[in-house]
Amino acid sequence: TDNVLEIENLTKVFKIREKGLKKSDFLAVDDVSFNVRRGTTTAVVGESGSGKSTVAKMVLNLLEPTSGTIRFDGEDMGRLSEKELFRFRRRVQPIFQDPYGSLDPMYSIFRTIEQPLKIHGIGDARSRQNKVKELLEHVSMPASTMHRFPNELSGGQRQRIAIARALALEPEVIICDEAVSALDVLVQAQVLELLNKLQAELGLSYLFITHDLAVVRQIADDVVVMKDGQLVESGKTDDIFATPQTEYTSNLLDAIPGGQLLV
Ligand code: ADP
Repeated sequence: TDNVLEIENLTKVFKIREKGLKKSDFLAVDDVSFNVRRGTTTAVVGESGSGKSTVAKMVLNLLEPTSGTIRFDGEDMGRLSEKELFRFRRRVQPIFQDPYGSLDPMYSIFRTIEQPLKIHGIGDARSRQNKVKELLEHVSMPASTMHRFPNELSGGQRQRIAIARALALEPEVIICDEAVSALDVLVQAQVLELLNKLQAELGLSYLFITHDLAVVRQIADDVVVMKDGQLVESGKTDDIFATPQTEYTSNLLDAIPGGQLLV
């Protein structure tokens, strides 16, 4: 098999300072292992607080694992130099839940999408402008959007801009952390359709963090179910939906409106 990401025995312990001076350990991610196959989508699901975001942050290199290994394209991320990590950051891009939080309100859409190209010193002003136009086309937004500002756009449009920016550096993997959770169901379906289209066109791999199994159904090839920091089951989306192996997963499935119809 061709895995773009291999996560092995990943563990994160947070040091919590309690009242007074006492410190205690909190095991947020406990010995989690799974893969993301190239060109496919793996969803990590679970209740709030189950450790999903902590996994995403470690994969994005925003948090250091306490132990375990994250291999990207066969390379152990824990062993990379600063310079190699900078290159790695180009290849793995995030999209977060709240486009308000992740788009600078003072930046025009042009500047927003151009920024990663500038940071990485890619192209001249003219070629960057062409690239921004091309990226807007990719996410089905008119070129004129580049003159606008985040607060002039709808939630779904802002998320399209966040996707365009994530694509600017031509990544191989996109980590979506509750990327569609703030959107209403109809807009959510449109953004998921866009992500599916981009995956087919560009061969992208997605690691998709969500608490919402209705979203999983629309986008994921494989599912990893987490509870209290541990992996409770994983497998093909169809199998997990048809025959969940744990009561916890069954309960998550029952929480989907019209969930039984989706199976
Ligand atoms: P999820 O994404 O599934 O909602 P998180 O990964 O955000 O869960 O959090 C998992 C657990 O780790 C939660 O109990 C959370 O309170 C705790 N946690 C997350 N980040 C920190 C941190 N920086 N310090 C201490 N505890 C944290």
